[in-house]
Amino acid sequence: MIDVSRRFAEGDFSRRIVCTSQDEIGQLASTLNKMAQDIETKIGEVGEHNQQLGAIFSSMIEGIIVVDKSGRIASINPTIEKIFDIKRKDVEGKHFLEAVRNHEISGIIEEVLHAGSGVSSEISLVLPVQKIFQVNAVPIFDNKNISGCLVVIHDITEIRRLETVRSDFIANVSHELKTPLTSIKGFVETLLDGALDEKENSHEFLKIVYDHAERLNNLVNDLLSLSYLESKDIILKKSVFNLRQQVEEVILGFGSQLKKKNIKISDEIPHNISISADKNRIVQVLTNFIDNAIKFNREKGTIRILNEDAGAKMKILIEDSGVGIPEKDIPRIFERFYRVDKARSRELGGTGLGLSIVKHIVELHGGEVGVQSSEGLGSKFWFTLPNK
Ligand code: ADP
Repeated sequence: MIDVSRRFAEGDFSRRIVCTSQDEIGQLASTLNKMAQDIETKIGEVGEHNQQLGAIFSSMIEGIIVVDKSGRIASINPTIEKIFDIKRKDVEGKHFLEAVRNHEISGIIEEVLHAGSGVSSEISLVLPVQKIFQVNAVPIFDNKNISGCLVVIHDITEIRRLETVRSDFIANVSHELKTPLTSIKGFVETLLDGALDEKENSHEFLKIVYDHAERLNNLVNDLLSLSYLESKDIILKKSVFNLRQQVEEVILGFGSQLKKKNIKISDEIPHNISISADKNRIVQVLTNFIDNAIKFNREKGTIRILNEDAGAKMKILIEDSGVGIPEKDIPRIFERFYRVDKARSRELGGTGLGLSIVKHIVELHGGEVGVQSSEGLGSKFWFTLPNK
């Protein structure tokens, strides 16, 4: 009994005391056996619990730092290793500031350890990566004494970026709506102030009012398309159709614009190519590309519509002999409201949303968009669609 209970004391619970007597010694033996059994079960439970905690700790998207009461790192999870480009084994036991040269987080830890209450703060990191983090730090208590601090770091870079995109978008929309509205108001006021009676002026003013109303109409239509395309529950109505035929139908709709600028357009897509896509949406893509190819083309210019079979994808190209796009503008050309020359685009009736609508539609189909262009030498816009 002494031998086995010594093993119990050393943490080995694999043995049991063999004693069959019914006296006090027997009872003591069975109590010791029961105690060993219970402790073994408890240790198993604690081990399992620790494993679960470890799995949560290492799989959390949030970065976690645990420091002891002297500010030394007790543990970090893989997210922190990634954010600060450090290794757990190199930093454990080191003072936080020694391991991670971030004074803001170090200050937060000190404050928590000193005050014994939680601190929440937003910090920006420039190195090793440019990011914005929400830092939440709380004290860890051991019998009412502060024994350390738990820091949870949440990457909110994307949330902040989306907020900026949204507020820029609202500012852009308001500005775009305000310009034609101000003009409409101004010309209507002039007409009411007496210009209505001057025959030649009144007609011209009304024409301007009409043009601005048309711009408002185009803008609202494009905004509605964009918001619909961005909504999550959009369903593509796919069907198989002949590409060349569809391109020709779109070209027909531009008859008068092509004639006005004396532009030659050629549909060089073979007769036998059929694609599986949402026909109306692809018509919208072709319409926007061809509309731009005409608007930004020169008098007597040319437009070619071609295709390339790129294995798993079909590439459709719209090549024009127009003004081209400066190199610095090319990466942003598909952004909402981005225009090389704002005044010129407005003058031509553009909303600055055409290409972003195109990008959305093509990406919804699983394709990509792009452009090759040199200023003054024309542009070659392209989009791909997965082959059936
Ligand atoms: P919009 O045509 O209404 O201005 P888009 O989103 O269709 O808006 O196009 C954005 C900008 O891209 C245009 O303002 C123009 O500066 C440039 N762009 C588009 N297509 C062409 C093209 N074919 N040639 C030259 N520039 C183009």
